[in-house]
Amino acid sequence: MKKRSPRLVFLAAPGAGKSTQARRVAESLRVPHIAMGDILREEVAAGTELGRRAAPHMDAGELVPDDIIVRMLAGRIGKGGFVLDGFPRDRAQAELLEERIDGVDGVIVLDVPEEEVVRRLSGRRECPQGHVYQLEDNPPAEPGRCDVDGEPLSQRDDDRPGVIKNRLRVYEEETRPLIEFYAARGVVEQVDGTGNADAVTERILDRLRAPGPPSIT
Ligand code: AMP
Repeated sequence: MKKRSPRLVFLAAPGAGKSTQARRVAESLRVPHIAMGDILREEVAAGTELGRRAAPHMDAGELVPDDIIVRMLAGRIGKGGFVLDGFPRDRAQAELLEERIDGVDGVIVLDVPEEEVVRRLSGRRECPQGHVYQLEDNPPAEPGRCDVDGEPLSQRDDDRPGVIKNRLRVYEEETRPLIEFYAARGVVEQVDGTGNADAVTERILDRLRAPGPPSIT
């Protein structure tokens, strides 16, 4: 009998490499990568009503209200597998997800020390198409220009120092407690998120291949 596609959640502080790793794991498992932050930024860029309501919360490094998040996610989580990146971010969202899909198969928690996430976020730059660089770890060939499309690089508004602090506080208060929530369901895989991105991806995939819950092979 064919096993169903995995349904995974990535949980980590901002700057821990969540989106990079979630994208790679989704590709490797051939399931959709659903990135809440990207969905929000697209809605803001398109100037939709929901995007206009979300923007001030994002700029302040706060969580966007659940009614907006739920409306943006509607129709994106189907019956098959997925890698969720940036959702759920608090207890209410985790409970909504449980109701909607009857449990996830694995929750990948990326562990990265706080001073390292601050360093990574402070040096993060991106082009308008969303290609992301890190000034120390992964700099563009020509300073300030995207290697892929030559577009100018800029800093995300919410990667500025005051907002970074707020995002980390929100993570500690609202999101980190979800590790316990999912640990009680036996689905948490804690992975060392430090070091080179390829090595982190291998660590995650190894963990998912290992026997016992929440293995998916
Ligand atoms: P990210 O790109 O995942 O760091 O998300 C950027 C910002 O989008 C966050 O700082 C929040 O303001 C908002 N955001 C992303 N995901 C959620 C969510 N699940 N619930 C509420 N706000 C969110």
